[in-house]
Amino acid sequence: MTASLRAAGLDQMALSLDGWDEPSHDGFRRVDGSFARTMAAAAWARELGLPLQIDTVFGAWNAGRFPELAALVESLGVVFWEVFFLVPTGRGAELDGCTAEQCERLFADLYEMSRRAPFIIKITEAPHYRRFVQQQAGHSDARPPAMRDVHRHAAATTDAGLRVTRQGVNSGKGFCFVDHVGDIYPSGFLPMLAGNVRRDAIADTYRTAPIFVALRDPDRLKGRCGACEYREICGGSRSRAFALTGDPFAEDGSCGYVPDTDVTASTVSH
Ligand code: SF4
Repeated sequence: MTASLRAAGLDQMALSLDGWDEPSHDGFRRVDGSFARTMAAAAWARELGLPLQIDTVFGAWNAGRFPELAALVESLGVVFWEVFFLVPTGRGAELDGCTAEQCERLFADLYEMSRRAPFIIKITEAPHYRRFVQQQAGHSDARPPAMRDVHRHAAATTDAGLRVTRQGVNSGKGFCFVDHVGDIYPSGFLPMLAGNVRRDAIADTYRTAPIFVALRDPDRLKGRCGACEYREICGGSRSRAFALTGDPFAEDGSCGYVPDTDVTASTVSH
């Protein structure tokens, strides 16, 4: 199978790996033998010289097993590790995401790994990782060379990491998602329908659909996210806020940061 994919022109293969061993991965995937098949596919990719990407979802069930998971990913010789922070929507609705404390611990581990790993680490649905990185940069001159952010924008993110990023990409802000029937959403994890590519010009939807316009307005953010000095580069996961509260502008409960100052105090009257 892997050989035919290579022959068909595939230049990188992504496999999901969410556990550190057979019971943990198969239990999460609910498919016996999934771990063994994933390891076999990774071995085929290696034999064929096909660059390998691993996608991993972190939530409450595996947040404490980062060392084992990271070691396994590293052992597979990957070129890219995409790390998702669970958004409890769709089939993930019955699962618990990472707590704020678990996020901070994972951020520290990922940050440390990104500074030495010979592969790219990309973070998805944890925009507060940008805040974490900026905080690290503020305390030292550390610049993680392999760090990549969710929906990385080449012009905004240089080898100086996110220190130069003024506007962070987020749902509906530098990003949109089109599903298999053409429906347009601000993100694949934020089910707020804004149009359909069969009927609407995607650029017009991105520019003018009310939910897209609102998501790009930091003054719409509430709670700690609304008052946070990192709201331009972070803004919290709008998908998680919606999944947990029904309000896409609520604060992201997976972030424990308490803003230093209320950035809205001088610009917004309440
Ligand atoms: S409070 Fe909100 S905007 Fe500030 S760092 Fe946390 S998630 Fe980001």
